Amino acid sequence: MTLSYINPTSDSPWATYISQVDRVIPYLGTLGRWAETLKRPKRALIVDVPIELDDGSVRHFEGFRVQHSLTRGPGKGGVRFHPDVTLEEVMALSAWMSIKNAAVNLPYGGAKGGIRVDPKLLSRKELERMTRRYTSEIGIIIGPHQDIPAPDVNTDGQIMAWMMDTYSMNTGSTATGVVTGKPIHLGGSLGRVKATGRGVFVTGREAARRIGLDLNGARVAVQGFGNVGSSAAELFGQAGGLIVAAQDHTGSIINEQGMDLSLLIPHVRATGGVAGFKGAEPMDNEAFWDVRCDIMIPAALENQITADRARRLKARLVLEGANGPTGRAADDVLADRNILVVPDVICNAGGVTVSYFEWVQDFSSFFWTEDEINVRLDKIMIGALKKIWDTADQHKITLRTATFAVACERILTARQERGLYP
Ligand code: NAD
Repeated sequence: MTLSYINPTSDSPWATYISQVDRVIPYLGTLGRWAETLKRPKRALIVDVPIELDDGSVRHFEGFRVQHSLTRGPGKGGVRFHPDVTLEEVMALSAWMSIKNAAVNLPYGGAKGGIRVDPKLLSRKELERMTRRYTSEIGIIIGPHQDIPAPDVNTDGQIMAWMMDTYSMNTGSTATGVVTGKPIHLGGSLGRVKATGRGVFVTGREAARRIGLDLNGARVAVQGFGNVGSSAAELFGQAGGLIVAAQDHTGSIINEQGMDLSLLIPHVRATGGVAGFKGAEPMDNEAFWDVRCDIMIPAALENQITADRARRLKARLVLEGANGPTGRAADDVLADRNILVVPDVICNAGGVTVSYFEWVQDFSSFFWTEDEINVRLDKIMIGALKKIWDTADQHKITLRTATFAVACERILTARQERGLYP
C-alpha cells in the first residue's frame, strides 16, 4: 500500500527501502502476515524551527523526527543537518535504523531526525539556537525511554550537548540518557566517536578474511572523509591497507602509493575537506569510481553507487559506511558482478552499538574503559555478521537480504508477541 503523504521516485531512499523489504518477505514464513508493519513509519513529526539570525532577521527551517518502529524498544537514530533533508529521506533512514538495531540485536526500535539546512551557512550562535529550538519542538516525542537521538551528517558532540541541555531544562532534571554521542564529561562513552568507523573495519576485516583478501597491501578508496570515512580509513591503514583515493564534498584525490593519513586527517580538520592535500594528486570526481582498488568504502550520503558506477567499480568488496549509498539497480549489478557488499544495516552498526553502551552507562552512572568498549563492540559486530553470513549461505541470498531476514524476523516476532493494541 502506498502512503499518501510522500511521493517517492523509483530510486529514492524510501523506494529502495521498500524494495529491500519486499525481497525478504519470502523468507519470513507466517510472520509475513505482519510485513505491512515494516512499510509505514509508526509516527512522523514535522516541526517548524524559527530562529532569529545574528542580523536580526527571522528564518524558518523544516525539521523532522520519524519513529519508524518502537516494537523492540525506544526509538534510536541520528539527527542530520543537511540542505537535502526531506521527510521521505528521514523516513528511510529511520526504517534502516529499525533494521540495523534488530540486526545487531540491540533493544531498540528505529528513528531518525533532521533539519533541512546547510549548517555551514550559520554562525555558531545561530546553530545553537536552531538546535535548541528543534530539540524543544521534538521534545514531545523524545526522551531516555522514548527515543534517543545521536549524531549523523553535520552533527557532533557539541550538538548533542545542546540537545541534552535543552531537553533537561524543559523537563527539570539532567537527562544524560536522552541523546548519545555526547562529550565524555557529559555522560558520553569512550570509543563512541570512532565506533562507526571501527564497525566498518571489523565487518570489513571479517568479510575480507572469508573471501581470501589480505588487508596487508589492500587498496582502499573512501568516499566521505568525515567521522565514519576517516575513522575507517585510519584502521585499514593500521592493518596495512593503502588508502589510494578519497573523495568528499570538496573534491577527489588519488595517490597510487597510498596516502599518509597522519597528514591527511589534520589537513581535513584544518581546511574542511580533502581538496588541496599535498600528499596526493587531485582527480576528477567521476573518475573516483574507476579507481583500481580492492575495497570501496562509501561513507558520505545515499545513492552514490548508481548502476553505471556499479558497472565500472573495480573493487572486490564494498563496505557501506554510509546509509543507503547503493541504489536498487546498482545492488543487482554488484551482485551479478560478484562484488561482495557488506550492507549499511550491519556494516555501520558500530556507532549505534556504542551508543547503546553509552545509554546503559548513563543509566547506571558507571563508565567503562575504552578497551572494554572496543572488546564488547567487536564481539557484537563479529557475532552479528556470522549469523547474517550463515543466513545468506543457507538461503543463497545476498548479505543485504540476509541482514533484512534476520532483522525483520526479530521485529515481526516481537510485533506478533506484543499483539495489536487495543
Ligand atoms: P560527517 O558529516 O562527519 O561526514 C560526511 C562526509 O561526507 C564529509 O566528508 C563530506 O564532505 C562528505 N560529503 C558530503 N556530501 C558529499 C558529496 N556530495 N560527495 C562526496 N562526499 C560528500 O558525517 P558522518 O557521521 O561521517 O556520516 C557519513 C555517513 O555515515 C552518513 O550516511 C551517515 O548516515 C552514516 N552513518 C554515520 C554514523 C555516525 O555514527 N556518525 C553512524 C552510522 C551511519
